[in-house]
Amino acid sequence: MDYNKLADLLFPEIDKDLNYYLNKYKKRDLPKGAEVTRIAPSPTGFLHVGTIYGALIDYFTAKQSNGVFYMRLEDTDQKREVKNAGEIAYDMLCYYNVTPNEGYRGSLEQIGDYGDYIQSKRTNIYKAFAKHLVSIGRAFPCFCNKSESKQDIIDRRNQELEESEDIDGKDPCRALTIEQIEANLKENKPFAIRLLSKGNPDNQFEFEDLIKGKRTIRENNKDIVLLKSNGIPPYSLAHLVDDTLMGTTIVVRGEEWYPSLASHLELFDAFNLPRLKYAHTPVICKNDDNGGKRKLSKRKDPEADARFFIEKGYPKTAVVEYLINLLNSDFELWRAQNPTAHYEEFNFSISKIGSNNPMFDFNKLNDISKTIISKMSAEEVYNNVLTWAKEFDKPFAEYLIKNKDYAIRVFNIDRETIKPRKDIYAWSMVKEYFDYMWNKPEISELEKQDEANFSEFIKAYKNGFILPSTKEDWFNGVKVLAEKLGYATDNKAYKANPDAFKGNTAKACEFIRLALTGRKNSPDLYEIMCILGEKEVNSRLNA
Ligand code: GLU
Repeated sequence: MDYNKLADLLFPEIDKDLNYYLNKYKKRDLPKGAEVTRIAPSPTGFLHVGTIYGALIDYFTAKQSNGVFYMRLEDTDQKREVKNAGEIAYDMLCYYNVTPNEGYRGSLEQIGDYGDYIQSKRTNIYKAFAKHLVSIGRAFPCFCNKSESKQDIIDRRNQELEESEDIDGKDPCRALTIEQIEANLKENKPFAIRLLSKGNPDNQFEFEDLIKGKRTIRENNKDIVLLKSNGIPPYSLAHLVDDTLMGTTIVVRGEEWYPSLASHLELFDAFNLPRLKYAHTPVICKNDDNGGKRKLSKRKDPEADARFFIEKGYPKTAVVEYLINLLNSDFELWRAQNPTAHYEEFNFSISKIGSNNPMFDFNKLNDISKTIISKMSAEEVYNNVLTWAKEFDKPFAEYLIKNKDYAIRVFNIDRETIKPRKDIYAWSMVKEYFDYMWNKPEISELEKQDEANFSEFIKAYKNGFILPSTKEDWFNGVKVLAEKLGYATDNKAYKANPDAFKGNTAKACEFIRLALTGRKNSPDLYEIMCILGEKEVNSRLNA
């Protein structure tokens, strides 16, 4: 068959060839060892937190090697496209400080010499590549009707195979003559372009994935689709074209692509283009209801959406550090040794990523977040809570604006000290957490057996209550009263077992805490009283 003729028949409108594009997009001029990575989301919905996780690998790898991290929008699946999803994806990457330094930028103009960075605008380039493969006999048109079901095609194919011994056992359209193809084209029959695979799954070869390490994989023998009948390429061809022309050096992508790796590699070989390096990332998982593991799902898990953490009010550094932790487990130790360093100073490496799928663990995330928040000043906490509340809880934002000084004092309880309290992990919990500082509390945690003692103690305590000017004086006062009311054991017993005495004073403090905050646990009670002020304390004791 005259493949050049076939190529022109199929793509009469495509006048630029592969070399034109290979020359047009020059090799990047980068320092030795520089890696070029990319994030290539499809605009099919909200941004999955796994995309941030993957983007962190791209970001660190490019940054630490003085390379480039760019963004490309893979919008070839128009049926699944969701409006504005591309812009949201870009904004979300910027929000989490994994900002690409080239390429697609949402509502802003694209930057970089390797564009267009939106796949739907590159159709002629993909066609030129497909045409090239046809012209060298490594791709063919397939006229199978898309409305035929898979089973229909299999049945028809089996029938054809039975009727003729000459037909190759592969895709039926492989056997079409140029005359048949011409006839089909005359009838305007739509066609897809398929790779003419030469692989044999009985043959295996070794491939080194940057995360999975050296593995043996079977050759591909599938005649994968390179262009759909609407002229749009599926992922396989699109990624080869783009990553080649855009100068990607490492393709970091989800593990779900690993099964099709062999077909992608065959495609690079068919084009005689150098293969790229690949890093197939493990996928973030969750326990399912049956005790097994499942992928964090966009449908079932709200935390799969990168926006979830914004709505909850997690500081973005907490989310980012948590994800780094999932990728490089020595980050935790580094963080403990470098408590004030920026996470970007951490020596991140693809080679440290384990190949097991990590589990999403809220406790761990919350711990990381608590530590980060505990190091913030009261003013920083105030500003963060206010920013969050302005978007998600307007009445609270108004309250905070009106009562700024008071709120900062509240946020300063057990803060800005050597060992600050680690309690808050998200801005959305602050209102409820300090509820008793904004409103008179309900006493909800008083236990039945304590009711009588509580009433007796509070009655005595509130009598002529004046807030002492030091914590020590206040505590001594409580101690004396606790003793007087018999909470404390007698002196002899105290000497023999001071812990029992302490316990009783603690009980007295618990009663005061209950009366003032409604809860058994709270940050420093004396500080709380000072902030509430004598008048408010009195009114709560008298309630
Ligand atoms: N658009 C593909 C996806 O969203 C990108 C895969 C890749 O990074 O190569 O899964």
